[in-house]
Amino acid sequence: LVRARDVHKAYGDHEVLKGIDMDVRVGETVVILGPSGSGKSTFLRCINHLEAMQKGSILVGEEQVGYVWRNGTLYRATPSQIARQRRGIGMVFQQFNLYPHMTVLQNIVEAPVGVYGEKRSEAEAYAHMLLKRVGLSEKANAYPRQLSGGQQQRVAIARALAIRPRLMLFDEPTSALDPELVGEVLATMRDLAQSGLTMIVVTHEISFAREAADRVIFMDGGRIVEEGPPGRVLVNPSHPRTRAFLNRVI
Ligand code: ATP
Ligand code: MG
Repeated sequence: LVRARDVHKAYGDHEVLKGIDMDVRVGETVVILGPSGSGKSTFLRCINHLEAMQKGSILVGEEQVGYVWRNGTLYRATPSQIARQRRGIGMVFQQFNLYPHMTVLQNIVEAPVGVYGEKRSEAEAYAHMLLKRVGLSEKANAYPRQLSGGQQQRVAIARALAIRPRLMLFDEPTSALDPELVGEVLATMRDLAQSGLTMIVVTHEISFAREAADRVIFMDGGRIVEEGPPGRVLVNPSHPRTRAFLNRVI
């Protein structure tokens, strides 16, 4: 579903991504680990075209992120074409960024109705289904401030799912939460992974990587240093940097 090739990104003369190659198959859950500043968020943002890369390419399905083919020529995508490409990709951030003045239900249907023109009744029916899936059926009419951090993040996950993405990106979704709230969000994510959703997850939660990842990728200094099944990378890493990192976080 995702095919990244030789992705380079620099801010000024600071090279943040130094040639990332990554493939993600349909239904796969890939966990990206790596120290602060290694370029994990930047890479996720390139997949979603929140950042433009300077070199390389990313295919999501048959779409090349940021570009469209017309008459055999590759053109830069227009803003509306980029919006269409993004519709296939849901993203969940560390900060949940729910709209405080909207109820849970309104938060979830905002994009499908407001941006993509779905019928409100249909979007709301789907939102109720999603709330059930994240275990928050009772909270449809609550406001974000009435919810715990873990509940807010689960609403944010439902909101990201509301556009029916074929790929979900998670950027440290539990690192802003109190420790006792982390488990409920990880459990929701584990259910999603098991349901066959394709997910790329940046997290420091090694237990999640161990239980839910099909593959673990370790990034350092803008490069992929090591990748493989969690049973190998987490237990018996071959690269000294992976080993050093795991010793610090476990
Ligand atoms: P963390 O674990 O702390 O979230 P990360 O692996 O996600 O780290 P990135 O956020 O991708 O790392 O950042 C990689 C590098 O790029 C960092 O050195 C950061 O300072 C730099 N960087 C990120 N965004 C920008 C920006 N908008 N302008 C300039 N430099 C940036
Ligand atoms: Mg980051």
